[in-house]
Amino acid sequence: MRYVSTRGEAPELGFEDAMMTGLARDGGLYVPAEVPALPPGEIAALAGRPYEDVAFCVMRPFVGDAFDDATFRRLIDAAYAGFGHPARAPLRQLAPNHFLLELFHGPTLAFKDFAMQLIGGMFAEVLGRRGDRLCVIGATSGDTGSAAIEAFRGNPAVDVFVLYPHGRVSEVQRRQMTTPGETNVHAIAVDGDFDTCQALVKAAFNDHGFRDEVALAGVNSINWGRVLAQVVYYFAAATALGAPGRTVDFTVPTGNFGDVFAGHVAKRMGLPVGRLIVATNRNDILHRALTTGEYRPDGVAPTISPSMDIQVSSNFERALHLAYGGDARAVRQLMAELSQGGFGISQGALQALREVYASGRASEEETKATIARTLRDAGELLCPHTAVAVHVAEAHPGDAPMVTLATAHPAKFPDAVEEATGVRPPLPPRMGDLYDRPERVTRIADDLSALQAHIRKTRAT
Ligand SMILES: *Cc1c(COP(=O)(O)O)cnc(C)c1O
Repeated sequence: MRYVSTRGEAPELGFEDAMMTGLARDGGLYVPAEVPALPPGEIAALAGRPYEDVAFCVMRPFVGDAFDDATFRRLIDAAYAGFGHPARAPLRQLAPNHFLLELFHGPTLAFKDFAMQLIGGMFAEVLGRRGDRLCVIGATSGDTGSAAIEAFRGNPAVDVFVLYPHGRVSEVQRRQMTTPGETNVHAIAVDGDFDTCQALVKAAFNDHGFRDEVALAGVNSINWGRVLAQVVYYFAAATALGAPGRTVDFTVPTGNFGDVFAGHVAKRMGLPVGRLIVATNRNDILHRALTTGEYRPDGVAPTISPSMDIQVSSNFERALHLAYGGDARAVRQLMAELSQGGFGISQGALQALREVYASGRASEEETKATIARTLRDAGELLCPHTAVAVHVAEAHPGDAPMVTLATAHPAKFPDAVEEATGVRPPLPPRMGDLYDRPERVTRIADDLSALQAHIRKTRAT
């Protein structure tokens, strides 16, 4: 399996190198040169299988010769062994034809663990084989950072640097990043918002001298390995509800577009995904882009669903690459226009996007009302991100079963949930002492050279 950059000017790579590299050297994102189809019979056979079996079957064709079957199977088993539910991604019914896909049973209580736990194992395997070490760096709006730290803490071949926007993550999110005691864990609070953090990380990667000097690697959702791991639960959920004999719709709380794009990949592999609905909070650039064809960032407003407080949605570039028929030159042009303020999507590409994606948004009031109503009507406590999506799903009634992705545990956002319902969701017992552990964090300005100096100084030599 070969991977190409969405911007067409970076070398083609196999799975292992695409995963270890993260952002392509031309600033683009790696995508598979072609997507393998799973025949309907093989999809049907996934129904009722353990999650690990589904994961192996769905991901195997993308991995090529990076891992032999036994190794890959062992990595998958290890990735999900620490999850707090035997189904890993259980479905729960909200209404007659509406289901929640609970993706928060991993160690940091958000869906990011599905990909990050697997990436952690795959990185360790490859680095061990090569005798190399790396600096993993990532920008986070809250959940990626803790998931990355949880995946790499104590790994002797990796330093993990996580940049989060100072004062803009929940206390549970912050403590999950600042309390691990391992010396290879480095939490960095940046003066700015998520886009500031993401721009700093991209700038560090685009400084090729620095990138090579400290062996930078990215595990943001731009990393193809992460998108791939997220394709699996679309298959697990849809087959549980009757696919391939039945079409299933999905609504996805969206920020950086990685999760919902994984649904697009599942569809291209042959899973009968009907509508794929992009749910945004009031930072609704994706909803506006899909509605009007104009993609123009206009600043981030903080919300109670902070992991979706994003205006530059990196993985959207992958969807654009497909919508423009793989025309890397067109993607390069759009991204150049983006750096000047925004771009318009061509009529043909917009139509192609709308064949796959629908969209909607929820205001803060609608989000809180949805949390309150869902507790009252269905007895379920939703995290604010999930509530955004439940609101949008309810605004898109249809005949196919609707699966809304529940991306975080409500206890990760206790203040917002308590404000909406009067109920303060408790942390699962295994995380009960989070508030007692000492914190360790470095604060830096929006300044690439300060970040680079910090990495040089604190990484293990
Ligand atoms: C990261 C995150 C999202 C957004 O996912 P993307 O893949 O960035 O679109 C939504 N909800 C929660 C809880 C998250 O952590």
